[in-house]
Amino acid sequence: MTSFAESLLRLRNAFACGKSHSVEFRISQLQSLIRLLEENEATLLNVLDQDLHKSKFEAMIAEIGFVKNEAISAMNNIKSWVTVEFVEKTFVTKLDQCFIRKEPFGVALIIAAWSHPVQLLLTPLVGAIAAGNCVVLKPSEVSVNTAALLSKLIPQYLDKDCFAVYSGGPVETRKLLQYKFDYIFYTGNSAVGKVIMKAAAEHLTPVTLELGGKNPCYIDQSFNLESTAQRLVWGCFFNTGQCCISPDYVLCSKEVQEQLVPAIKQCLKKFYGEEPKESADYGRIINDHHFNRLQKLLNSGQVAIGGETDKQDRYIAPTVLVDVMESDAVMQQEVFGPILPIINVNSMEEAIAFINRHQKPLALYVYATNTKVVNEILEKTSSGGFCSNENMVQLTLNTLPFGGIGKSSTWCSDPYNRVGKAQTPAAACAPHSLIHTLSQIH
Ligand code: NAD
Repeated sequence: MTSFAESLLRLRNAFACGKSHSVEFRISQLQSLIRLLEENEATLLNVLDQDLHKSKFEAMIAEIGFVKNEAISAMNNIKSWVTVEFVEKTFVTKLDQCFIRKEPFGVALIIAAWSHPVQLLLTPLVGAIAAGNCVVLKPSEVSVNTAALLSKLIPQYLDKDCFAVYSGGPVETRKLLQYKFDYIFYTGNSAVGKVIMKAAAEHLTPVTLELGGKNPCYIDQSFNLESTAQRLVWGCFFNTGQCCISPDYVLCSKEVQEQLVPAIKQCLKKFYGEEPKESADYGRIINDHHFNRLQKLLNSGQVAIGGETDKQDRYIAPTVLVDVMESDAVMQQEVFGPILPIINVNSMEEAIAFINRHQKPLALYVYATNTKVVNEILEKTSSGGFCSNENMVQLTLNTLPFGGIGKSSTWCSDPYNRVGKAQTPAAACAPHSLIHTLSQIH
Protein backbone atom coordinates (compact mmCIF):
# COMPACT_ATOMS: atom_id res chain seq x y z
CA MET A 1 0.00 0.00 0.00
CA THR A 2 3.01 2.33 0.12
CA SER A 3 2.54 3.06 -3.53
CA PHE A 4 -1.11 3.85 -2.93
CA ALA A 5 -0.18 6.17 -0.06
CA GLU A 6 2.16 7.94 -2.48
CA SER A 7 -0.56 8.24 -5.12
CA LEU A 8 -2.96 9.63 -2.58
CA LEU A 9 -0.39 12.17 -1.44
CA ARG A 10 0.14 13.21 -5.07
CA LEU A 11 -3.61 13.77 -5.45
CA ARG A 12 -3.82 15.62 -2.13
CA ASN A 13 -0.96 17.93 -3.15
CA ALA A 14 -2.53 18.59 -6.55
CA PHE A 15 -5.82 19.45 -4.90
CA ALA A 16 -4.15 21.66 -2.29
CA CYS A 17 -2.34 23.56 -5.09
CA GLY A 18 -5.70 24.10 -6.77
CA LYS A 19 -4.76 22.18 -9.92
CA SER A 20 -8.22 20.64 -10.32
CA HIS A 21 -10.14 23.81 -9.49
CA SER A 22 -10.23 26.00 -12.58
CA VAL A 23 -13.17 25.71 -14.94
CA GLU A 24 -10.71 25.39 -17.85
CA PHE A 25 -9.04 22.37 -16.23
CA ARG A 26 -12.39 20.72 -15.47
CA ILE A 27 -13.55 21.18 -19.06
CA SER A 28 -10.25 19.91 -20.47
CA GLN A 29 -10.52 16.73 -18.35
CA LEU A 30 -14.12 16.16 -19.43
CA GLN A 31 -13.03 16.58 -23.04
CA SER A 32 -10.29 14.00 -22.45
CA LEU A 33 -12.83 11.62 -20.96
CA ILE A 34 -15.00 12.00 -24.05
CA ARG A 35 -11.93 11.32 -26.21
CA LEU A 36 -11.22 8.19 -24.16
CA LEU A 37 -14.72 6.94 -24.93
CA GLU A 38 -14.65 7.87 -28.60
CA GLU A 39 -11.15 6.69 -29.48
CA ASN A 40 -11.62 3.37 -27.66
CA GLU A 41 -15.24 2.68 -28.51
CA ALA A 42 -14.54 -0.60 -30.30
CA THR A 43 -12.32 -1.94 -27.50
CA LEU A 44 -14.86 -0.92 -24.87
CA LEU A 45 -17.63 -2.69 -26.79
CA ASN A 46 -15.40 -5.73 -26.98
CA VAL A 47 -14.66 -5.96 -23.23
CA LEU A 48 -18.34 -5.38 -22.37
CA ASP A 49 -19.13 -8.26 -24.70
CA GLN A 50 -16.52 -10.43 -22.97
CA ASP A 51 -17.77 -9.62 -19.49
CA LEU A 52 -21.54 -9.59 -20.00
CA HIS A 53 -22.17 -10.49 -23.65
CA LYS A 54 -23.57 -6.97 -23.71
CA SER A 55 -25.14 -6.06 -27.05
CA LYS A 56 -23.66 -3.15 -28.96
CA PHE A 57 -26.94 -1.24 -28.69
CA GLU A 58 -27.17 -1.65 -24.90
CA ALA A 59 -23.50 -0.79 -24.49
CA MET A 60 -23.92 2.38 -26.52
CA ILE A 61 -27.04 3.66 -24.77
CA ALA A 62 -26.35 2.56 -21.20
CA GLU A 63 -22.57 2.79 -21.00
CA ILE A 64 -20.57 4.73 -23.59
CA GLY A 65 -23.26 7.12 -24.85
CA PHE A 66 -24.64 7.55 -21.35
CA VAL A 67 -21.32 8.79 -19.95
CA LYS A 68 -20.67 10.96 -23.00
CA ASN A 69 -24.05 12.66 -22.53
CA GLU A 70 -23.31 13.27 -18.86
CA ALA A 71 -19.92 14.77 -19.73
CA ILE A 72 -21.37 17.01 -22.46
CA SER A 73 -24.17 18.14 -20.18
CA ALA A 74 -21.64 18.90 -17.41
CA MET A 75 -19.47 20.92 -19.80
CA ASN A 76 -22.52 22.90 -20.93
CA ASN A 77 -23.50 23.66 -17.35
CA ILE A 78 -20.25 24.10 -15.43
CA LYS A 79 -20.16 27.87 -15.77
CA SER A 80 -23.61 28.30 -14.30
CA TRP A 81 -22.93 25.68 -11.60
CA VAL A 82 -19.83 27.47 -10.34
CA THR A 83 -21.48 30.87 -10.34
CA VAL A 84 -21.97 32.34 -6.91
CA GLU A 85 -25.64 32.25 -5.92
CA PHE A 86 -26.89 35.35 -4.12
CA VAL A 87 -29.57 34.68 -1.51
CA GLU A 88 -32.43 36.68 0.00
CA LYS A 89 -31.42 38.99 2.84
CA THR A 90 -32.96 40.11 6.07
CA PHE A 91 -33.12 43.59 7.59
CA VAL A 92 -29.98 42.83 9.65
CA THR A 93 -27.96 41.75 6.60
CA LYS A 94 -29.42 44.28 4.16
CA LEU A 95 -26.05 45.93 3.51
CA ASP A 96 -24.10 42.65 3.30
CA GLN A 97 -23.36 40.38 0.38
CA CYS A 98 -24.96 36.99 1.20
CA PHE A 99 -24.23 34.11 -1.13
CA ILE A 100 -23.62 30.42 -1.62
CA ARG A 101 -20.24 29.54 -3.04
CA LYS A 102 -19.82 25.95 -4.19
CA GLU A 103 -16.55 24.18 -3.41
CA PRO A 104 -15.18 20.79 -4.36
CA PHE A 105 -14.85 18.31 -1.49
CA GLY A 106 -11.20 17.38 -2.14
CA VAL A 107 -10.07 13.83 -2.97
CA ALA A 108 -13.05 11.59 -3.68
CA LEU A 109 -13.15 7.80 -3.82
CA ILE A 110 -15.48 6.18 -6.38
CA ILE A 111 -16.15 2.46 -5.91
CA ALA A 112 -18.12 0.90 -8.77
CA ALA A 113 -20.16 -2.25 -9.33
CA TRP A 114 -19.93 -4.65 -12.28
CA SER A 115 -23.40 -4.49 -13.84
CA HIS A 116 -22.71 -1.36 -15.93
CA PRO A 117 -18.97 -1.24 -15.40
CA VAL A 118 -18.29 1.79 -17.60
CA GLN A 119 -21.28 3.87 -16.57
CA LEU A 120 -21.05 3.17 -12.84
CA LEU A 121 -17.39 4.16 -12.69
CA LEU A 122 -17.34 7.09 -15.08
CA THR A 123 -20.68 8.83 -14.44
CA PRO A 124 -19.80 9.76 -10.85
CA LEU A 125 -16.36 10.71 -12.20
CA VAL A 126 -18.01 13.27 -14.50
CA GLY A 127 -19.71 14.88 -11.48
CA ALA A 128 -16.47 14.78 -9.51
CA ILE A 129 -14.46 16.41 -12.29
CA ALA A 130 -17.15 19.00 -12.97
CA ALA A 131 -17.06 19.96 -9.30
CA GLY A 132 -13.26 20.29 -9.24
CA ASN A 133 -12.34 17.23 -7.16
CA CYS A 134 -9.37 14.90 -7.48
CA VAL A 135 -10.44 11.25 -7.64
CA VAL A 136 -9.36 7.70 -6.82
CA LEU A 137 -11.33 5.24 -8.96
CA LYS A 138 -11.93 1.64 -7.91
CA PRO A 139 -13.53 -0.36 -10.76
CA SER A 140 -15.34 -3.60 -9.94
CA GLU A 141 -12.98 -6.56 -10.19
CA VAL A 142 -15.99 -8.73 -11.11
CA SER A 143 -16.27 -7.22 -14.61
CA VAL A 144 -12.67 -8.22 -15.07
CA ASN A 145 -12.04 -7.25 -18.70
CA THR A 146 -13.67 -3.82 -18.46
CA ALA A 147 -11.80 -3.12 -15.22
CA ALA A 148 -8.46 -4.00 -16.82
CA LEU A 149 -9.13 -1.79 -19.86
CA LEU A 150 -10.31 1.23 -17.86
CA SER A 151 -7.37 0.91 -15.46
CA LYS A 152 -5.07 1.14 -18.46
CA LEU A 153 -6.90 3.91 -20.33
CA ILE A 154 -7.74 6.38 -17.56
CA PRO A 155 -4.09 7.30 -16.78
CA GLN A 156 -3.49 7.72 -20.54
CA TYR A 157 -6.23 10.34 -20.88
CA LEU A 158 -6.67 12.06 -17.52
CA ASP A 159 -4.20 14.15 -15.53
CA LYS A 160 -2.15 11.75 -13.38
CA ASP A 161 -1.67 14.31 -10.59
CA CYS A 162 -5.42 14.49 -10.06
CA PHE A 163 -6.79 11.06 -10.98
CA ALA A 164 -5.66 7.55 -10.02
CA VAL A 165 -7.11 4.10 -10.58
CA TYR A 166 -6.75 1.43 -7.95
CA SER A 167 -7.59 -2.16 -8.89
CA GLY A 168 -8.60 -5.07 -6.71
CA GLY A 169 -11.46 -6.75 -4.91
CA PRO A 170 -12.91 -6.70 -1.38
CA VAL A 171 -9.53 -7.04 0.39
CA GLU A 172 -7.97 -4.17 -1.53
CA THR A 173 -11.10 -2.03 -1.17
CA ARG A 174 -11.08 -2.50 2.60
CA LYS A 175 -7.41 -1.43 2.66
CA LEU A 176 -8.29 1.65 0.61
CA LEU A 177 -11.07 2.50 3.04
CA GLN A 178 -8.58 2.85 5.89
CA TYR A 179 -7.36 6.06 4.28
CA LYS A 180 -9.17 9.32 4.71
CA PHE A 181 -11.07 10.57 1.67
CA ASP A 182 -13.16 13.71 1.42
CA TYR A 183 -16.08 11.97 -0.26
CA ILE A 184 -16.94 8.34 -1.00
CA PHE A 185 -19.32 7.38 -3.79
CA TYR A 186 -20.18 3.68 -3.68
CA THR A 187 -22.42 1.65 -5.98
CA GLY A 188 -23.23 -1.94 -5.08
CA ASN A 189 -25.13 -4.17 -2.67
CA SER A 190 -26.31 -3.01 0.72
CA ALA A 191 -24.24 -5.51 2.76
CA VAL A 192 -21.05 -3.91 1.43
CA GLY A 193 -22.76 -0.53 1.71
CA LYS A 194 -22.64 -1.00 5.49
CA VAL A 195 -18.89 -1.77 5.31
CA ILE A 196 -18.38 1.47 3.36
CA MET A 197 -20.48 3.56 5.71
CA LYS A 198 -18.69 2.21 8.80
CA ALA A 199 -15.29 2.96 7.26
CA ALA A 200 -16.46 6.44 6.24
CA ALA A 201 -17.74 7.06 9.77
CA GLU A 202 -14.19 6.59 11.13
CA HIS A 203 -13.15 9.75 9.27
CA LEU A 204 -16.59 11.39 9.22
CA THR A 205 -16.40 11.28 5.43
CA PRO A 206 -19.62 12.11 3.55
CA VAL A 207 -20.92 9.25 1.40
CA THR A 208 -23.30 8.46 -1.38
CA LEU A 209 -24.41 4.84 -1.32
CA GLU A 210 -26.20 3.78 -4.51
CA LEU A 211 -27.70 0.45 -3.44
CA GLY A 212 -30.38 -1.89 -4.72
CA GLY A 213 -33.30 -3.98 -3.55
CA LYS A 214 -36.54 -5.32 -4.97
CA ASN A 215 -38.48 -3.09 -7.36
CA PRO A 216 -42.20 -3.93 -7.40
CA CYS A 217 -44.32 -3.59 -10.51
CA TYR A 218 -48.07 -3.48 -9.99
CA ILE A 219 -50.22 -4.27 -13.04
CA ASP A 220 -53.79 -3.16 -12.67
CA GLN A 221 -56.73 -4.70 -14.51
CA SER A 222 -56.99 -1.46 -16.51
CA PHE A 223 -53.56 -2.09 -18.08
CA ASN A 224 -52.80 -1.85 -21.79
CA LEU A 225 -51.77 -5.39 -22.72
CA GLU A 226 -49.47 -4.76 -25.68
CA SER A 227 -47.46 -1.82 -24.38
CA THR A 228 -47.17 -3.26 -20.86
CA ALA A 229 -45.80 -6.57 -22.12
CA GLN A 230 -43.31 -4.83 -24.42
CA ARG A 231 -42.04 -2.41 -21.82
CA LEU A 232 -41.85 -5.06 -19.13
CA VAL A 233 -39.85 -7.41 -21.36
CA TRP A 234 -37.48 -4.58 -22.26
CA GLY A 235 -36.99 -3.54 -18.62
CA CYS A 236 -36.72 -7.03 -17.17
CA PHE A 237 -34.27 -8.50 -19.67
CA PHE A 238 -32.15 -5.44 -20.52
CA ASN A 239 -28.59 -6.37 -19.47
CA THR A 240 -30.11 -9.79 -18.66
CA GLY A 241 -31.98 -8.24 -15.75
CA GLN A 242 -28.73 -7.15 -14.11
CA CYS A 243 -29.91 -3.55 -13.52
CA CYS A 244 -30.60 -1.89 -10.18
CA ILE A 245 -33.88 -0.44 -11.48
CA SER A 246 -35.21 -3.48 -13.38
CA PRO A 247 -38.71 -4.49 -12.33
CA ASP A 248 -37.93 -7.23 -9.77
CA TYR A 249 -41.39 -8.79 -9.42
CA VAL A 250 -44.93 -8.28 -10.69
CA LEU A 251 -48.00 -7.94 -8.50
CA CYS A 252 -51.26 -8.61 -10.36
CA SER A 253 -54.49 -10.58 -10.27
CA LYS A 254 -54.81 -14.09 -11.74
CA GLU A 255 -56.93 -12.63 -14.58
CA VAL A 256 -54.26 -10.10 -15.51
CA GLN A 257 -51.59 -12.82 -15.31
CA GLU A 258 -53.54 -15.01 -17.74
CA GLN A 259 -53.42 -12.28 -20.37
CA LEU A 260 -49.93 -11.06 -19.54
CA VAL A 261 -47.95 -14.32 -19.68
CA PRO A 262 -48.79 -15.17 -23.32
CA ALA A 263 -48.17 -11.53 -24.32
CA ILE A 264 -44.72 -11.63 -22.65
CA LYS A 265 -43.98 -14.88 -24.47
CA GLN A 266 -44.85 -13.27 -27.79
CA CYS A 267 -42.72 -10.22 -27.05
CA LEU A 268 -39.73 -12.34 -26.12
CA LYS A 269 -39.94 -13.99 -29.53
CA LYS A 270 -40.16 -10.59 -31.19
CA PHE A 271 -37.18 -9.22 -29.22
CA TYR A 272 -34.82 -12.22 -29.07
CA GLY A 273 -36.16 -14.69 -31.67
CA GLU A 274 -37.12 -18.35 -31.11
CA GLU A 275 -33.85 -19.04 -29.29
CA PRO A 276 -32.65 -16.18 -27.05
CA LYS A 277 -29.37 -18.01 -26.54
CA GLU A 278 -28.48 -17.33 -30.17
CA SER A 279 -29.52 -13.68 -30.04
CA ALA A 280 -26.80 -11.01 -30.21
CA ASP A 281 -29.13 -8.85 -28.08
CA TYR A 282 -29.39 -11.20 -25.10
CA GLY A 283 -26.65 -11.16 -22.48
CA ARG A 284 -25.05 -13.57 -20.03
CA ILE A 285 -24.72 -13.75 -16.24
CA ILE A 286 -21.58 -12.02 -15.02
CA ASN A 287 -19.95 -14.96 -13.21
CA ASP A 288 -20.45 -18.46 -11.77
CA HIS A 289 -21.35 -17.14 -8.32
CA HIS A 290 -24.30 -15.18 -9.67
CA PHE A 291 -25.24 -17.96 -12.11
CA ASN A 292 -25.48 -20.50 -9.24
CA ARG A 293 -27.39 -18.03 -7.08
CA LEU A 294 -29.93 -17.38 -9.86
CA GLN A 295 -30.28 -21.03 -10.79
CA LYS A 296 -31.45 -21.79 -7.24
CA LEU A 297 -34.13 -19.11 -7.56
CA LEU A 298 -35.71 -21.04 -10.44
CA ASN A 299 -37.10 -23.47 -7.84
CA SER A 300 -39.55 -20.83 -6.60
CA GLY A 301 -43.14 -21.24 -7.90
CA GLN A 302 -43.69 -22.69 -11.38
CA VAL A 303 -41.80 -21.83 -14.55
CA ALA A 304 -44.32 -20.33 -17.00
CA ILE A 305 -41.78 -19.12 -19.59
CA GLY A 306 -38.10 -20.01 -20.06
CA GLY A 307 -36.23 -21.71 -17.23
CA GLU A 308 -33.50 -23.18 -19.48
CA THR A 309 -29.91 -22.77 -18.28
CA ASP A 310 -26.40 -23.53 -19.53
CA LYS A 311 -23.75 -23.29 -16.84
CA GLN A 312 -20.82 -23.47 -19.27
CA ASP A 313 -22.15 -20.41 -21.11
CA ARG A 314 -23.57 -18.72 -17.96
CA TYR A 315 -26.86 -18.55 -19.87
CA ILE A 316 -30.24 -18.28 -18.19
CA ALA A 317 -33.21 -17.94 -20.53
CA PRO A 318 -35.63 -15.03 -20.02
CA THR A 319 -37.85 -16.59 -17.37
CA VAL A 320 -41.25 -15.86 -15.84
CA LEU A 321 -42.32 -17.65 -12.65
CA VAL A 322 -45.97 -17.97 -11.57
CA ASP A 323 -47.61 -19.31 -8.38
CA VAL A 324 -44.87 -17.57 -6.42
CA MET A 325 -45.41 -17.09 -2.68
CA GLU A 326 -44.11 -14.21 -0.61
CA SER A 327 -42.07 -16.72 1.41
CA ASP A 328 -40.30 -18.23 -1.66
CA ALA A 329 -36.53 -17.83 -2.08
CA VAL A 330 -36.94 -15.56 -5.11
CA MET A 331 -38.78 -13.05 -2.91
CA GLN A 332 -36.10 -13.03 -0.18
CA GLN A 333 -33.40 -11.27 -2.21
CA GLU A 334 -32.98 -8.86 -5.11
CA VAL A 335 -33.19 -11.05 -8.24
CA PHE A 336 -30.69 -9.06 -10.35
CA GLY A 337 -31.02 -11.49 -13.24
CA PRO A 338 -33.43 -12.57 -16.00
CA ILE A 339 -36.10 -14.09 -13.74
CA LEU A 340 -39.45 -12.35 -13.24
CA PRO A 341 -41.67 -13.73 -10.47
CA ILE A 342 -45.40 -12.96 -10.52
CA ILE A 343 -47.24 -12.75 -7.21
CA ASN A 344 -51.03 -12.71 -7.29
CA VAL A 345 -52.96 -10.04 -5.42
CA ASN A 346 -56.71 -9.52 -5.51
CA SER A 347 -56.77 -5.73 -5.46
CA MET A 348 -54.78 -2.52 -5.60
CA GLU A 349 -55.14 -2.22 -1.80
CA GLU A 350 -53.53 -5.64 -1.39
CA ALA A 351 -50.68 -4.57 -3.70
CA ILE A 352 -50.12 -1.37 -1.69
CA ALA A 353 -50.06 -3.35 1.57
CA PHE A 354 -47.57 -5.81 0.01
CA ILE A 355 -45.26 -3.02 -1.15
CA ASN A 356 -45.43 -1.22 2.19
CA ARG A 357 -44.53 -4.22 4.29
CA HIS A 358 -41.20 -4.48 2.45
CA GLN A 359 -38.23 -2.12 2.26
CA LYS A 360 -38.69 1.14 0.41
CA PRO A 361 -37.71 0.34 -3.18
CA LEU A 362 -35.25 2.10 -5.44
CA ALA A 363 -37.93 2.10 -8.15
CA LEU A 364 -41.66 1.41 -8.16
CA TYR A 365 -43.66 0.80 -11.32
CA VAL A 366 -47.39 0.83 -12.01
CA TYR A 367 -49.14 -0.15 -15.21
CA ALA A 368 -52.70 1.18 -15.33
CA THR A 369 -54.70 3.32 -17.72
CA ASN A 370 -56.86 4.34 -14.79
CA THR A 371 -55.11 7.43 -13.45
CA LYS A 372 -56.85 7.09 -10.09
CA VAL A 373 -54.96 3.84 -9.55
CA VAL A 374 -51.63 5.45 -10.47
CA ASN A 375 -52.24 8.41 -8.17
CA GLU A 376 -53.40 6.30 -5.27
CA ILE A 377 -50.31 4.09 -5.41
CA LEU A 378 -48.11 7.15 -5.70
CA GLU A 379 -49.81 8.70 -2.65
CA LYS A 380 -49.75 5.61 -0.47
CA THR A 381 -46.25 4.27 -1.08
CA SER A 382 -42.69 5.58 -0.94
CA SER A 383 -39.78 4.84 -3.26
CA GLY A 384 -36.67 6.44 -4.77
CA GLY A 385 -38.20 6.67 -8.24
CA PHE A 386 -41.68 6.09 -9.63
CA CYS A 387 -42.86 5.45 -13.18
CA SER A 388 -46.33 4.77 -14.44
CA ASN A 389 -46.77 2.80 -17.64
CA GLU A 390 -43.02 2.70 -18.16
CA ASN A 391 -39.94 1.33 -16.47
CA MET A 392 -36.25 2.22 -16.32
CA VAL A 393 -36.58 5.46 -18.33
CA GLN A 394 -36.43 7.61 -15.20
CA LEU A 395 -32.66 7.12 -15.32
CA THR A 396 -32.37 8.70 -18.75
CA LEU A 397 -33.49 12.12 -17.52
CA ASN A 398 -30.60 13.91 -15.87
CA THR A 399 -32.97 16.68 -14.90
CA LEU A 400 -34.42 14.25 -12.32
CA PRO A 401 -32.48 13.28 -9.21
CA PHE A 402 -31.52 9.61 -9.00
CA GLY A 403 -31.32 7.52 -5.88
CA GLY A 404 -33.25 5.45 -3.41
CA ILE A 405 -34.66 5.93 0.01
CA GLY A 406 -33.98 4.00 3.20
CA LYS A 407 -32.08 0.82 2.42
CA SER A 408 -32.04 1.37 -1.34
CA SER A 409 -29.78 4.44 -1.08
CA THR A 410 -28.52 6.97 1.38
CA TRP A 411 -28.59 10.02 -0.80
CA CYS A 412 -30.39 11.19 -3.89
CA SER A 413 -28.00 12.85 -6.23
CA ASP A 414 -28.00 14.95 -9.33
CA PRO A 415 -25.06 14.76 -11.71
CA TYR A 416 -23.19 17.73 -10.31
CA ASN A 417 -23.96 17.11 -6.67
CA ARG A 418 -22.93 13.47 -6.88
CA VAL A 419 -19.42 14.24 -5.77
CA GLY A 420 -19.70 17.95 -5.93
CA LYS A 421 -20.99 20.28 -3.31
CA ALA A 422 -22.70 19.63 -0.04
CA GLN A 423 -26.46 19.33 -0.33
CA THR A 424 -29.05 20.03 2.27
CA PRO A 425 -30.71 16.75 3.22
CA ALA A 426 -34.13 18.28 2.72
CA ALA A 427 -33.40 18.83 -0.95
CA ALA A 428 -31.58 15.56 -1.33
CA CYS A 429 -34.07 13.14 0.11
CA ALA A 430 -37.28 13.91 -1.72
CA PRO A 431 -38.69 10.51 -2.63
CA HIS A 432 -40.66 9.73 -5.75
CA SER A 433 -38.92 11.39 -8.66
CA LEU A 434 -42.17 11.26 -10.53
CA ILE A 435 -42.33 10.61 -14.22
CA HIS A 436 -45.71 10.15 -15.81
CA THR A 437 -45.84 8.60 -19.25
CA LEU A 438 -49.53 7.87 -19.55
CA SER A 439 -49.74 9.91 -22.72
CA GLN A 440 -47.67 7.30 -24.52
CA ILE A 441 -50.43 4.74 -24.36
CA HIS A 442 -53.50 6.91 -24.85
P1 NAD B 1 -19.63 -5.71 -6.83
O1 NAD B 1 -19.48 -7.12 -6.41
O2 NAD B 1 -18.89 -5.21 -8.03
O3 NAD B 1 -19.26 -4.80 -5.57
C1 NAD B 1 -19.26 -3.40 -5.65
C2 NAD B 1 -17.90 -2.85 -5.22
O4 NAD B 1 -17.69 -3.17 -3.86
C3 NAD B 1 -16.75 -3.47 -6.01
O5 NAD B 1 -15.89 -2.44 -6.44
C4 NAD B 1 -16.11 -4.42 -5.03
O6 NAD B 1 -14.70 -4.54 -5.21
C5 NAD B 1 -16.43 -3.81 -3.69
N1 NAD B 1 -16.59 -4.82 -2.64
C6 NAD B 1 -17.22 -6.03 -2.76
N2 NAD B 1 -17.21 -6.67 -1.58
C7 NAD B 1 -16.58 -5.87 -0.70
C8 NAD B 1 -16.26 -5.97 0.69
N3 NAD B 1 -16.57 -7.05 1.39
N4 NAD B 1 -15.61 -4.94 1.27
C9 NAD B 1 -15.27 -3.82 0.55
N5 NAD B 1 -15.55 -3.68 -0.75
C10 NAD B 1 -16.19 -4.68 -1.38
O7 NAD B 1 -21.14 -5.34 -7.11
P2 NAD B 1 -22.49 -5.88 -6.44
O8 NAD B 1 -22.54 -5.44 -5.04
O9 NAD B 1 -22.72 -7.30 -6.78
O10 NAD B 1 -23.48 -4.99 -7.34
C11 NAD B 1 -24.81 -5.29 -7.50
C12 NAD B 1 -25.64 -4.44 -6.55
O11 NAD B 1 -25.45 -3.07 -6.86
C13 NAD B 1 -27.12 -4.70 -6.66
O12 NAD B 1 -27.70 -4.72 -5.38
C14 NAD B 1 -27.63 -3.50 -7.45
O13 NAD B 1 -28.97 -3.18 -7.21
C15 NAD B 1 -26.71 -2.43 -6.95
N6 NAD B 1 -26.61 -1.34 -7.93
C16 NAD B 1 -27.09 -0.13 -7.58
C17 NAD B 1 -27.06 0.91 -8.50
C18 NAD B 1 -27.60 2.28 -8.14
O14 NAD B 1 -27.30 3.22 -8.84
N7 NAD B 1 -28.40 2.40 -7.08
C19 NAD B 1 -26.51 0.71 -9.78
C20 NAD B 1 -26.02 -0.56 -10.10
C21 NAD B 1 -26.06 -1.57 -9.17
